Amino acid sequence: MYWEKEIETIERRQLEKLQLERLKQSINKASKSLYYGDKFKDKVINAAAIKSIQDIEKIPFTTKDDLRGNWPYGLVATSKDELVRMHSSSGTTGRATVIFHTAGDIAVWTNLVARCMYMTGMRKSDVFQNMMTYGLFTGGLGFHYGAEKIGALVIPASAGNSKRQIQLMIDFATTVVHVIPSYALHLSTVFTELKIDPRRDTKVKIAFIGAEPHTEKMRRKIEEIYGYKAFNSYGLSEMSGPGVAFECPNQNGLHIWEDSFLVEIINPQTLQPVRDGEEGELVMTTLQREGMPILRYRTKDLTRIIPEPCSCGRTHRRIERIKGRTDDMMIIKGVNIYPMQIEKKLMDIEGVGTNFLIVLDREEFNDLMTVKVEVNKKLFSGELKKLEALRKKIAEELKSEILITPKIDLVEPDSIPKGEGKAVRVIDNRKD
Ligand code: AMP
Ligand code: ZN
Repeated sequence: MYWEKEIETIERRQLEKLQLERLKQSINKASKSLYYGDKFKDKVINAAAIKSIQDIEKIPFTTKDDLRGNWPYGLVATSKDELVRMHSSSGTTGRATVIFHTAGDIAVWTNLVARCMYMTGMRKSDVFQNMMTYGLFTGGLGFHYGAEKIGALVIPASAGNSKRQIQLMIDFATTVVHVIPSYALHLSTVFTELKIDPRRDTKVKIAFIGAEPHTEKMRRKIEEIYGYKAFNSYGLSEMSGPGVAFECPNQNGLHIWEDSFLVEIINPQTLQPVRDGEEGELVMTTLQREGMPILRYRTKDLTRIIPEPCSCGRTHRRIERIKGRTDDMMIIKGVNIYPMQIEKKLMDIEGVGTNFLIVLDREEFNDLMTVKVEVNKKLFSGELKKLEALRKKIAEELKSEILITPKIDLVEPDSIPKGEGKAVRVIDNRKD
């Protein structure tokens, strides 16, 4: 049940002691980098000033802009000789940030990923098909090494080429997959096209889905289509990649590995900590990183800590699934809206297909929101009256959630372009 029972079920008090020790080490290590060295040079902030975990508040936040501004080596804390690997963020906005790892960092990261996979029931006897891009993106190699550490047979399929993915899955009796949730839905349309039933014709029993925000409804939809259990996997390249937080068999919140990361939730406006259990921006400090320690990193991801202990026995706290990013928020006619609110509603409506896209325009001084929704094949080739009823229903359901009535465009299955990577949910044409 546990990959590392002792550390996964460690008493909270002991865990906090360990965190404090590691936090001081991290600060000491970080101060060897140009960036933190400069920040700490007046000695007001240093490891000696940290007497308790709460003292972390004395340390300034680190943002993506800080990483960019000190690109590429400004935060590296060891000699370059020690570095063995580089990765980068997917960098949807601006220059991608780069992260460097020592051999020790890779070992720690690999172990965390193995811990996550083992927690869901994956074992040595499994065949693991990794459908994530191999390369700079961390989802490929990160999971690859974790799975090998468990001893599973790894198929490094990488992303894309849907027909080949399905072929591999069948030929080698894949039992565990790693896939981006929007791609899992897209892949299901290819299964249908090939007249292959994923529930009947494949042996997959576990999926790791992550790398992009998705709702509980979307997870259930994926589980329903494939007949496997889909576990939410959260990570970001700045904190190494996957293996930061992961669902246990209870599938109710993600255990965030507090022996490796110090977790804070802050109000993104005031930058003050929120009350326990309240929603805010996730901030993390690496506790074991050597090559490039990062202190109080503002992830921009919105979540909350679930304060109640988990019945699986793990003492590392859980975070709720990510609701979105602070920079995902759309302001339309003065209303704050997250793409996840749209997804949550759409996934519940019968007849809705596997993909959607939000398009924002401005006409005169008015914001216009159009939601393009793929409908399922049967409905699309059916009666016009039914399509019209669906359009109306979607508009009403969305209005009940977001308070404004968007224009709904029903489109053909698979007509919204779907790349191999993270789904693009919003196109904003309002910017001049
Ligand atoms: P990258 O560094 O390019 O791998 O991107 C990391 C970002 O992807 C995170 O900061 C999140 O915004 C997003 N992300 C990764 N995993 C998840 C997940 N399970 N749920 C929601 N968002 C995720
Ligand atoms: Zn648990």
